[in-house]
Amino acid sequence: MILTDIMKFIESEYKVINNTPCEICGGDYEADQLEILLIDDVPFDVCQCSCCNCGHEKTFEFYAPFVTENDLKNITNLN
Ligand SMILES: [Zn+2]
Repeated sequence: MILTDIMKFIESEYKVINNTPCEICGGDYEADQLEILLIDDVPFDVCQCSCCNCGHEKTFEFYAPFVTENDLKNITNLN
């Protein structure tokens, strides 16, 4: 998978996160940490988020069968 495709995938995740209001106060979630976890041998992109208003934490999971840990390292190294 090429890097621009992965970036698009991450971008679409952030869109989901940005469009999800906080359960507690209705504020916006901010992504704290992004990592790939294997759940039953299937890679999931797990994003730890917290509300920038009240600090409420939420974990978003995205099914990411095509993203490898190496791919993600390449992305996080860009920041
Ligand atoms: Zn909140």
